Amino acid sequence: KAKSLGKDQYQIFAPAMHQDAYQRLQIETDLRKAIIQQEFVLYYQPIIELITGKIIGVEALIRWQHPTHGLINPGKFIPIAEETGLILKLGYWTLKQACYQLHLWQKNNIVDPSFSISVNLSAYQFAQSNLLEQIDEILTATQITPESLKLEITETAIMENFAAAAQVIENIRQRGIQLSIDDFGTGYSSLSYLHSFPVDNLKIDRSFIQHLHEKSDNLGLVNAIVQIAKTMNMHIIAEGIETNNQLEQLKLLNCQFGQGYLFSEPLNPEKLTKFILDISEFQLNS
Ligand code: C2E
Ligand code: MG
Ligand code: MG
Ligand code: MG
Repeated sequence: KAKSLGKDQYQIFAPAMHQDAYQRLQIETDLRKAIIQQEFVLYYQPIIELITGKIIGVEALIRWQHPTHGLINPGKFIPIAEETGLILKLGYWTLKQACYQLHLWQKNNIVDPSFSISVNLSAYQFAQSNLLEQIDEILTATQITPESLKLEITETAIMENFAAAAQVIENIRQRGIQLSIDDFGTGYSSLSYLHSFPVDNLKIDRSFIQHLHEKSDNLGLVNAIVQIAKTMNMHIIAEGIETNNQLEQLKLLNCQFGQGYLFSEPLNPEKLTKFILDISEFQLNS
């Protein structure tokens, strides 16, 4: 059956594939311009203490405000930025912009001193020799304390270069900066490395939270992760909470923190500011 359709399919798919490669090349060209012309923006997603509903911080998530294609999500351009090495410039900008935004929120009394900013680091940035110098420079320039910065890396980034990662992690934590493992459970999922380098937070990947209600497998797994985290003094953050059912399950499992569309999508700085002010007003009134 497939064979008889083969010729037509080829004719249908060839232009599409060509278009795909063309689009990629164009993204790469546009990315270089975009960095110079500063077309990137950071959105911020609230991270919530599940029991109290308090916003304890935000995660910075990059978007590209493309002059003709509109707002582009990181999944579309971060991989290309990594392949081309542009990720180092982009990562530096992101870190600085996020810290500066926190500085502004602190200065304007929008947030209290315990409010934190989480920034995603690419594996390439993590392997970069001057990462720590950049971090120090940015902390000094933006006047935020190391304790209010959380850096998110994936298990893969750590495992790719175990020895170097151990060194970087130690240096980051010595400064008082917190470290979070992002998308936990999707990578090596080996808890053994956590003994070699303790981290502060584990972010359980959205895929485990998604089926928390139907699949008891995931219930057991999330429960185990929470228990282990507790004995190792790590905080757990559940990613991608979308329903009240998921929230209730997570509370029952004693998961402390979470983020997801149930609370809020990632928002631009103005909307995030409004969100924080509305929520605290709501808490005062209730
Ligand atoms: P991540 O760090 O795991 O971020 C969480 C992603 O899940 C975000 O997608 C967020 O918008 C999305 N999300 C949050 N809550 C929900 C929910 O309830 N349901 C669903 N379906 N999705 C939810 P986003 O912003 O598209 O970012 C995707 C990934 O791109 C991030 O995953 C991160 O790995 C990467 N990324 C984003 N910003 C940066 C950055 O500044 N630097 C680097 N290196 N990577 C970044
Ligand atoms: Mg993240
Ligand atoms: Mg994640
Ligand atoms: Mg991710």
